[in-house]
Amino acid sequence: MLPALVLALMIQGSAVSAAQSVLPAGTRYDSKMPTLKDVAGHDLGEEITSPEGITAYLHALAASAPDRTVLVEYARSWEGRPLHLLAIGTPQRMAQLDRIKSEVRKLADPRRLSSADADRLVKELPVVTCLMFAVHGNEISGPNAALALAYHLLAAQGDATVDAILSQSIILIDPLENPDGRARFVYQTLLGRAAQPDPEPGSAEHDEPWPGGRSNHYLFDMNRDWFAQSQPETRGRTRVYLDWFPQVVVDLHEMGGDSSYYFAPPADPLNPHITEEQTALFELIGRANARRFDEKGFAYFNREVFDSFYPGYGESWPTFHGSIGMTYEMASARGLVYRRKDETTLTFADGVTRHFTAALTTAEIAAQNRERFLRQFLSYRQGAVKDGEQGAVRAYLMPPGPDPSRTERLARLLAAQGIEVRKSAEPIKVGDRTLPAGTYVMATAQPAGRLLRNLMDPDTPQPEQFVKEQDRRRKKRLPDQIYDITAWSLPLAYDVEVVASGAPVNVRSTPLPAPAPVATLAAAKVGYLIPWGAGAAEAVVEALQTGIRVRTSDEAFTLGERRYPIGTAIIRSSDNGANLPARLGAIVARCGIEAVPVDSGYVDDGISLGSDQVVPLKAPRVLLAWDSPTQSTSAGWARYTLERRYRQPVTAVRMNSLGRLDLSRFDVVVLPAGDYSTILSGEALRRVKDWVSAGGTLITLGEASRWAARENIGLLATRTEFRDGRSEIQAPEKDQKKDEPPPKPLDLEKAIQPERERPESTPGAMLRVELDNEHWLAAGTDGEVQAIVEGQRVFTPVKLDQGRNVGVYARKDRLVAGGLVWNDAQELLAQKAYLIDQPLGQGRVIAFAEDPNYRAFTEATQLLFMNAVLLGPAH
Ligand SMILES: [Zn+2]
Repeated sequence: MLPALVLALMIQGSAVSAAQSVLPAGTRYDSKMPTLKDVAGHDLGEEITSPEGITAYLHALAASAPDRTVLVEYARSWEGRPLHLLAIGTPQRMAQLDRIKSEVRKLADPRRLSSADADRLVKELPVVTCLMFAVHGNEISGPNAALALAYHLLAAQGDATVDAILSQSIILIDPLENPDGRARFVYQTLLGRAAQPDPEPGSAEHDEPWPGGRSNHYLFDMNRDWFAQSQPETRGRTRVYLDWFPQVVVDLHEMGGDSSYYFAPPADPLNPHITEEQTALFELIGRANARRFDEKGFAYFNREVFDSFYPGYGESWPTFHGSIGMTYEMASARGLVYRRKDETTLTFADGVTRHFTAALTTAEIAAQNRERFLRQFLSYRQGAVKDGEQGAVRAYLMPPGPDPSRTERLARLLAAQGIEVRKSAEPIKVGDRTLPAGTYVMATAQPAGRLLRNLMDPDTPQPEQFVKEQDRRRKKRLPDQIYDITAWSLPLAYDVEVVASGAPVNVRSTPLPAPAPVATLAAAKVGYLIPWGAGAAEAVVEALQTGIRVRTSDEAFTLGERRYPIGTAIIRSSDNGANLPARLGAIVARCGIEAVPVDSGYVDDGISLGSDQVVPLKAPRVLLAWDSPTQSTSAGWARYTLERRYRQPVTAVRMNSLGRLDLSRFDVVVLPAGDYSTILSGEALRRVKDWVSAGGTLITLGEASRWAARENIGLLATRTEFRDGRSEIQAPEKDQKKDEPPPKPLDLEKAIQPERERPESTPGAMLRVELDNEHWLAAGTDGEVQAIVEGQRVFTPVKLDQGRNVGVYARKDRLVAGGLVWNDAQELLAQKAYLIDQPLGQGRVIAFAEDPNYRAFTEATQLLFMNAVLLGPAH
């Protein structure tokens, strides 16, 4: 091997002309196949191809090899860009694609397959290998490597490796998973580029302004979205997966420029639903990649950083369907050339070459072991069925519950990701309970049973040894090795009841029906009542936007045998026109909820419909803080929740421009997580306070609440706490003993403990929050929800004369609903404030300790956020 310095100089010297060196030297290519240069004007490693360039080249390749390719547009991004899947195979195979796909789907359901048929399919079917690139838009080399791979597979002549791959497989290439993020990156880097590409990491061409190119339009990290399915890009991708059931799935990324290359096997902890055979195949592929990288002198590592625990990654979600799912990571030049800390130069072409090499090697090893990969896929899905048949839980049952639209939403989310969900046509007896007809039934004995368990179980345990090691590390203040959140259970996040049945459930049932058609409501003398909930909030947003007048009840009441909870929306016939039944009918049908017609306003118990406690709602005018210093994910989740989940219009305002705005034009200001101390101080802060005092609703999320709680800001009467429970702003008490000489012999452990330290960090767990059911902020809940808690924020509850602690964390013995929370953190968090409503003049500050819109799968806390937005201005 050449010494590192010489190698680096060679790379540097050939940085731009190295374009074609991406492809293996000495390969003969069919001159009839277009090169990237022919179509986009640059070579593979020469320039960061734009999304439009990628689309054009895919079409050119597909048009030049129509008998060997299928090009599918599987989704459109929010900004309207197409997402593609390019399938490549031999002409014979591509001519029989429908048959092959239907046979792979047969393999995916071993319950309906005889073992003779299964053996035949494993023997005959090609292995399907899917390579996906750049779900993070600023991870730039992947898409060019994808184009290199497509060209190489289609144009190489007499190449033994290519022939071997195509004889045994179908290759699926998703060259650009996040076109909006890439477009943003390409624009920014070109805007900042020097006459000669600048290797300085701090130069404008490498340094992305807020929000960077990693995320999509709504600033989501789409590599966390696979089970939440909140984004159209993700929904398209999961549909593609379920259409093809690829046995090998690789998601190719980039990491920091000073790293080398990462491929499987993954780091600990492994999710408990990963099998030994899957681990063995990670190893097989890892060794093949290692051999190829060693030959070429490429550095790499594995097992150190990227784990496979959270089921929402592009590598893990397919794994729980039975694929071999893996993440690869290349050091990013984040531009065309990058100077590393060791003074060597990394080029964009280096990244393209390494991703191309790893992708090709993976396709090759999968082809060489075709039957083993197919057999593994089959046996994983057989194993899932068997696990279900032998496990303690035979079926998860979800009764419609107090908010049927929310339960239905969860049922549909599960069904959309290949899980069998049925709707019972008759009551179901479980133990001493009888669940009503309409209960959703999910048998655990199903091929997707391991994904189902991952998403439904309150807790997915981490290996004991791993947790012990993290405990040791935290005590030494070493960074933990936990890569992502440790709890994500969807029934907890939706706050939907699940009844686990220990016996198989055999009832008359149907697959999920199509959503109900739009209906006109029966006429009502007095009006319509909509019990509060997520679907109700959605309907009320739309009703208000279309000019229907809506009121909300601040207390519960009983009318005609039925109890209506706090928050119930009241739409009076006399407030609205004669066409109300048709207009409201269309809205409630779309939201999947009921509006109860009432002919008499005389209540049997509780407040009257004409009470002062029934307050009119107005369509809120919402301002969302945007751009620095907001944390982009928090800002994006809030914007998505408002605009897309609830269709509530919102004006995003760059914080630098806030001073130019007339705040009186808005009813609600949302501050996503962020530290606003430099941007909101002095005059700017005074204006915000004046606006709140005049009747505005200010909503602060996570770190923004921590900022608002500072004494010099004066927006909130709560304080954040240190590890010892003292306020962060309070000066440490004078401790007499501290001035005394330390005891001999010294107690080292005690002596090195920091005096003032922020609380123990929680790596993303689900904590129970008790809600004040008499407060409208808690409307639509049953008095308790589970919230994602991440980080080190602990808020002292406010005193009674300052405001209401509408949500507090449960007592320690029932605090943790799922995930890892260290004992010290549990002690500190128990009974502390989660949701505060603090009046200020005519207005109010509503503070969330954590982000209620977390990754947009936290339906229950998202509703609390919408309560603040919709109901806040009415009070
Ligand atoms: Zn990435």
